Amino acid sequence: MTHRTTQTTYSIGVDLGGTDIKAGLVSSAGDIFCRVVLPTDVETGGPKVVAARIAEAVRQVLVNVETAGINITSEQSESTDAEVYEIGVGLGAPGLIIAETGVVHFSPNFPGWSDIPLVDYVNAELAKLQPTKLAGQTDTHKKYKPILRGMDNDVNAMTLGELHHGAGVGYKSLVALTLGTGVGGGVVIDGKVYHGSRNTAGELGHTIVEPNGRVCGCGNLGCLEAYAGAKNIVERIEQKIADGRRSSLVDVIKDGVELTPRMIAEAAEAGDALAIEIFAETGQYIGIALTSIAHILNPQIAIIGGGIAEAGEQLLFQPIRKELAKRAMDIPAQMKIVKAHLGNDAGIVGAAMLAMDAVT
Ligand SMILES: [Zn+2]
Repeated sequence: MTHRTTQTTYSIGVDLGGTDIKAGLVSSAGDIFCRVVLPTDVETGGPKVVAARIAEAVRQVLVNVETAGINITSEQSESTDAEVYEIGVGLGAPGLIIAETGVVHFSPNFPGWSDIPLVDYVNAELAKLQPTKLAGQTDTHKKYKPILRGMDNDVNAMTLGELHHGAGVGYKSLVALTLGTGVGGGVVIDGKVYHGSRNTAGELGHTIVEPNGRVCGCGNLGCLEAYAGAKNIVERIEQKIADGRRSSLVDVIKDGVELTPRMIAEAAEAGDALAIEIFAETGQYIGIALTSIAHILNPQIAIIGGGIAEAGEQLLFQPIRKELAKRAMDIPAQMKIVKAHLGNDAGIVGAAMLAMDAVT
């Protein structure tokens, strides 16, 4: 018999990456417990192997729940130890995800995947977990039946995490940008993630900021990602150094060390003029993209996260705000620009929200 409570207090969030699967029990307050990190093992098999790894991560989270003695069941089912308790799982996955049907249409992290019904695959694997074997417990313990209730693009999941438990709390319309290897985006309109007509909305990283600019991974020219993605920031400073510009990083490159945005940020903090300029330009490009976004959507707030955002207020956020103030009309220009609050946890928290949303 299945027990369904009227108010979900916990669900399991899974953040699927090309390298790792991160999972955890998430409370409706947005706290993460019983974390698990497993290698994705994408090389050893196809989508069904990855689905089995996701199920294994969920199993391990539930084992940890048992070990930690956390009672995730409702008060109502507390006295019914022998019954099976259904717990919702949500999944954030990289690529073009068809959220309604639970299908991975395409994913740069999983070459060869095309229209994979990942939610069905994962649920088939979760169904194989006999509830009594979840934690090796005795019959007197709770038995959990995990069910994958929702999947979305990983950046949409992060956006949802920030909306409910991060920098977006209290806002109804917002955009999120994640500055990492690529530049991801998410759009929230009236409190809901906006997917567009065919699930491709929110590709804010492919906003054009230079008509004949740098080549982007998507094949277009001059996308924001071609300027603000990690590799692109490094290439831009290397180009300027090759053109003869002076920088404290010249010696680092001569030593054969590969530059990272973090090294550039550290050089900037130490006063390196070229490194400061690179971040100012990066902020300018982000500000140009956000000006278009503000004019189209008029969001209350833009949340910026990912490793590059760690460059912080002075190096990055001030140039972004300056550009928006310079270019946007007065009302859209009032969009707040803030750093994401949840960091790497946004993926797990947001994925768990997908399961809670599906329930409520
Ligand atoms: Zn692009």
